[in-house]
Amino acid sequence: MTGFVYSEKPIRIERGEGPYLYDGSGSEYLDFGASYACVPLGHSNPQVREAVTDQLDALTYVQASYPVDARDALDDRLTAVAPGDMEHVWLCNSGTEANEAALKFARSATGREKLVATMQGFHGRTMGSLSTTWKSKYREPYEPLIDGVEFVPYGDREALNEAIDGDTAGFIVEPIQGEGGINPGTREYLRAAREITADTGAALIADEVQTGLGRTGTMWAVEYADVVPDVLTSAKGLANGLPIGTTLCKEWIAEGAGPHGSTFSGGPVVCAAADATIETIEREDLPAHAAAMSEYLRTELDAAVGDGVREIRGTGLMIGVEVKRGSNRLLRDLAIDHGVLALPAGRTVLRLLPPLTIEAGHVDRVVEAIAATMGTKTEPGTEAQS
Ligand SMILES: *Cc1c(COP(=O)(O)O)cnc(C)c1O
Repeated sequence: MTGFVYSEKPIRIERGEGPYLYDGSGSEYLDFGASYACVPLGHSNPQVREAVTDQLDALTYVQASYPVDARDALDDRLTAVAPGDMEHVWLCNSGTEANEAALKFARSATGREKLVATMQGFHGRTMGSLSTTWKSKYREPYEPLIDGVEFVPYGDREALNEAIDGDTAGFIVEPIQGEGGINPGTREYLRAAREITADTGAALIADEVQTGLGRTGTMWAVEYADVVPDVLTSAKGLANGLPIGTTLCKEWIAEGAGPHGSTFSGGPVVCAAADATIETIEREDLPAHAAAMSEYLRTELDAAVGDGVREIRGTGLMIGVEVKRGSNRLLRDLAIDHGVLALPAGRTVLRLLPPLTIEAGHVDRVVEAIAATMGTKTEPGTEAQS
């Protein structure tokens, strides 16, 4: 029984197809959180399923010390899509492990201890990654965490200048904060982070576990700022629902990476799934599709929602709707009354991370549901007619 660490959810899902999930009674739900961004191609994608079943037939697992085609193919594809000259790939099983490796590599490659992270940032829940995660609710029961982490306000260039110095091993940052409420970093901020880390010899670690793989309209969110980090982590949607994470590194980081390792690193089945996922994202040009759907979604939302909304923000298909009252009731009403599943980000933000394959009709249904749940905009001259 693993359920005890998760709160009880009333909807028991039995089947998924494309952007839809189905419960045991056949009720349909439009999954506009893509199950925490883990299914960028939608549920039960045929290309991924075929790659996985073929690989299962050939070889389920062999220890990582033997080269296998599926792992080599994924390595090649990852280095091909990685920003700039990030030519070294570490494979693991989750986002927190990818960040764990990133933090270890930053320390070993620089020979320094200090780590800098951002307030409201989220990097995972194992000891190292948790030490760079901001929320005290996640941290306190497990303290003491690892030493030497300093938090800076997200988006504050001056604070970065002060915190990062010749003793800093690395600065870990999400190009857009996800769990923290959908807070986009500006181009200037990300460029400043690149300059300050380069000047001091610290590693810039971009946590793209949530933002990566086309979600923000480009393959990686750092591309928007023309920034090539020293380390980039990805996970969540990387194998369209199977567990995988990766830490992409520049040469100087890989050279000093040290004796890291993991038994299930680069297992052939998840590698085949990830290779098929990235291949499909590229072949179908899903980053561009995400950008187009984003524009449509934002325009329609802007026009439909009323005074209950404080702000709509985000990039691509990573959109936060900040509401005036709490988002919990709203999420419940969307799910139960309208069959629309979305995600929270903090107490007041409704987070939309749909599959990148959605079409305008799906957007229409979600906008209608949100407007109905929140109360629509009143057109001037139409109020108080009775
Ligand atoms: C989800 C997430 C993680 C943690 O990934 P897990 O696979 O849950 O360990 C790390 N960083 C970011 C930005 C995330 O969104």
